[in-house]
Amino acid sequence: MPNTLKDAVEVTRRMGCRYLWIDALCILQDSLEDWKKESQNMGNIYRDSLCTIAAHCAKSSSDGFLAKAIHSSASPVKVRARTSPNGPIEKFESFIRMPGDFKTQVDEGHLSKRGWVLQERVLSTRILHFAEEALFWEDAEGVKCENGDLLDITEELQNGSNSRRRMKPDVSQFGVKDWYEWVERYARCDLTNESDKLPAIAGIANVMIAYTKRPYFAGLWMDHLQYGLIWNPVSPLHRPAYKRAPSWSWASFDGQVEYSKKFATSVSEMKFIGISERPGGVGTASLLPPDGPSVLEIQTAVRTISHGSRLENSGCDPTEAGPCSRTPGHYCSFRLVDESVKELGGWIGTVAFDDSEDRGGNEFPKDVVCARIGSHEGKPGYSMLVLARTHKFENEFRRVGMGSVSHPGWFNDAATISLHIV
Ligand SMILES: [Zn+2]
Repeated sequence: MPNTLKDAVEVTRRMGCRYLWIDALCILQDSLEDWKKESQNMGNIYRDSLCTIAAHCAKSSSDGFLAKAIHSSASPVKVRARTSPNGPIEKFESFIRMPGDFKTQVDEGHLSKRGWVLQERVLSTRILHFAEEALFWEDAEGVKCENGDLLDITEELQNGSNSRRRMKPDVSQFGVKDWYEWVERYARCDLTNESDKLPAIAGIANVMIAYTKRPYFAGLWMDHLQYGLIWNPVSPLHRPAYKRAPSWSWASFDGQVEYSKKFATSVSEMKFIGISERPGGVGTASLLPPDGPSVLEIQTAVRTISHGSRLENSGCDPTEAGPCSRTPGHYCSFRLVDESVKELGGWIGTVAFDDSEDRGGNEFPKDVVCARIGSHEGKPGYSMLVLARTHKFENEFRRVGMGSVSHPGWFNDAATISLHIV
């Protein structure tokens, strides 16, 4: 047995436990059938286990982690001290441990960059982290270093972010807002198999489905599409050769995505009809694309840009899409201009494309429509999807970008239609 697994057995025994789950051993490695079955159940395995062992300091399965964890600090320091107030002065050898840096060793460690690890972190009730310089214990109350320090997480709690560190002790409290933070974190992680994109986060989704009964599909919650659909690419996005998710899902891309806080309180301005099969497409009972149906059908107001408005280059490189190299932290975008609006020179909104291929240089791509998705609570304006016709079926579109419009009347005379987004 490889050293890292042997060490895990040793830790399990010392904890007085009889059972240990190791993915590589407990899932039949050459059976897709078994993998499909077990990968759907991973969430329950993490959630119901007594403790998860995270071997951050092992670089591979042959490496082991116990020897490193024990001998990682410097050589012992010689100390002379009394053990009782009037006792004799004795000589000791002692290891002096500095409080380990949890952030660099665990949060930003190589293990946390692996896509499959996110759901272990989110769902486990207790984690024993064997990190490079120290041992950490993480549970619902926080993180303790082996030297006894309780790591301060108040800053994160003040930021309203409890999803980064620890799931709530009671998973039934998982909210849809937590989900978007996990998605952002998850999209920064690496996956060895690009087809694992949806399966490797399905454990969290399945636990949430079981508790909340919310409808979930392809990485999005169908009762919260006004926010779920409005993701932004943060790194240049790469479309995998293997079509694993529909264009409206963040999972259709490799690369980082971001949810703008600007739309966090959006109210839905569309009607979700359902997820259907494309005519002639193959459908199975699977909830995961690409096997199952994946066409999103919504009813909403749709406008073409050419009617009374136009897109103007906002100074970006016309071949760029996604994150802007000119203005870091921004997305390359077009200005949406409507001359009938007198304020701000008619600048009424912004449109950003996901992919430079769809951006089409300075020429605005043809056959593109804006579909109203949500409105900003308390503020005028809408968020919208930018869609291109596939020309394969009537009213069939694919997502090419997103945008927002601040002029409340822009969709007033727009027709409401049923859209099929593939
Ligand atoms: Zn730009």
